[in-house]
Amino acid sequence: MKKDDCIFCKIANGEIPSATLYEDERFRVILDLGPASKGHALILPKEHYPNLYELPDELAEKVILLAKKMIVKMTKALDCDGFNVVQNNGAPAGQTVFHFHMHLIPRYENDDAGFGWNTGELSEADKEDILAKMREID
Ligand code: AMP
Ligand code: ZN
Repeated sequence: MKKDDCIFCKIANGEIPSATLYEDERFRVILDLGPASKGHALILPKEHYPNLYELPDELAEKVILLAKKMIVKMTKALDCDGFNVVQNNGAPAGQTVFHFHMHLIPRYENDDAGFGWNTGELSEADKEDILAKMREID
């Protein structure tokens, strides 16, 4: 299942060339063209799924195993000091390409990649509200 106008479908399936770090039957791992740090890579499934909500469980299991394998190898290759493994779902969450992908972002002591979010404080009201709503679903 590919989507005609999807750039990541074309990259994942080799119709558009990319700097490929790894490839198998289901996935291609490429260097991001707008890297947050040296070595920023993306895991792309070859099939088109817009986001994690729609990714089949079987691929979701494989993707985290591949992420682990890649960050172990990349840490040795790049001598980085840590990794952000990030995955955005939906425009409000920062997703800009609507073909599921997982970011592998090498981190280096004192780099300025600047990944993060503003932290708040969990209020009693929010806590109770969320717990109650979650209990209602299932
Ligand atoms: P997201 O914001 O999570 O959807 O991430 C999309 C990522 O894809 C960004 O980090 C972009 O720099 C990257 N990107 C977009 N187009 C390309 C491309 N043609 N080749 C490689 N990376 C790309
Ligand atoms: Zn696609």
